[in-house]
Amino acid sequence: TVPNVKKPYLEQLCQAILLAIEEPIQISGRSITSRVSIGISCQKVTELDEERLIKQADLALFMAKSAGKESYAFFSPELLDSSTRKQELTQALQQALVNGEFSVHYQPQIELVSGRVIGFEALLRWNSTLGAVPPSEFIPVAEECGAIHAIGEWVLREACEQLSVWRRESRPDVHVSVNVSAKQFLDPEFAEKVSRILSATDVPAECVEIEITESIMLDLDTAAGLVEELQDIGVKLAIDDFGTGYSSLNAVKNIQIDTLKIDKSLVDEVLGSDRSIAILATIIELGKNLGADVVVEGLETLEQVNLMKQYEII
Ligand code: MG
Ligand code: MG
Repeated sequence: TVPNVKKPYLEQLCQAILLAIEEPIQISGRSITSRVSIGISCQKVTELDEERLIKQADLALFMAKSAGKESYAFFSPELLDSSTRKQELTQALQQALVNGEFSVHYQPQIELVSGRVIGFEALLRWNSTLGAVPPSEFIPVAEECGAIHAIGEWVLREACEQLSVWRRESRPDVHVSVNVSAKQFLDPEFAEKVSRILSATDVPAECVEIEITESIMLDLDTAAGLVEELQDIGVKLAIDDFGTGYSSLNAVKNIQIDTLKIDKSLVDEVLGSDRSIAILATIIELGKNLGADVVVEGLETLEQVNLMKQYEII
C-alpha cells in the first residue's frame, strides 16, 4: 500500500519497479532475469475497504498480464463492468447448449449469373438468458473458456443434419458452409470429429465446407497439417473474411483452398468508389487464379448485384 499519493506518482513508481526488476540478478554464478506485471487500485482513505482494494488490484493485474508482459494497469469501474459481463457470459455459456438456447440460421449463397441457390452458410445465434448476444461478443468468451469445442461441434452436427434433410427433400445439389474458430480448428481431434459427424448424418464430405479465417495461419506448420487431414476426409475449405486481416495473402499462399470469401466490408464501399472496385476485382481475379470459387459476401442492394454480375462470382 502506498498512502497519500496521486496517479502520476504511482505511474512513475510502477515504471521504476519494472526497470529495477528487469535488471538481471546473479545467483550461484548464473544470471537470472525476472519479469513482473502490476495491478493498481486506488481508494480514498475515508472509504477504505481493504478486501475490495485487493480484489480490484487483482483484476487490474489480470488486465496488465493480458496486455502483455511487464506492464501495469489501473483498476477502473469499466474494467469491472467488462469483467462482470465476461463472467456472466462464461457462466451462461456453460448452460446454453443444455438449455437449447442456440439456433442456426441459414444464409443462402447464390450463383449470380444463374440466380441459382447453390448453398447455405450456417450462422450461429444465441438467444441467452441475458438476451440476444452477438457472436462477435460470445465467440471470444467461448474460445477463452473452452466452451467453443462443444458449441462448434453442435453447430456442425446441426448443419449436417439440416443438409441431410435438404438432400432427401429434393435439393441434392446444395452444400453447407460452417464457420470454425481458430481454437476449434487447432484442436488435434477436430478432423476426427468432422469425420464422425459426416458419417452419423450420412452427408457426403464434398457437400460440407469448413470456413476458417487467416488467424489460423499464425502457426503455419500446425495449420498445414490440420488442413491436410481435412482434405483427406474430402470436405471443402474456405478462407473467410478475406481482405480484412494483415496476412491475407500469406493465408492463401500457404494452403490449398476451395473457396475465397471476400469480406462484406470490401463490398460495402464498392458503389461509387473506383478504387474499391479495382481492389475487389483484383481479389476476385486472385481467387480464380488460385483455382478457387469466389464468394462476395453481403450483397444487399440490386445495384451491388448488377455491378458484381460481370465477375462470375457467387
Ligand atoms: Mg463465414
Ligand atoms: Mg464471412
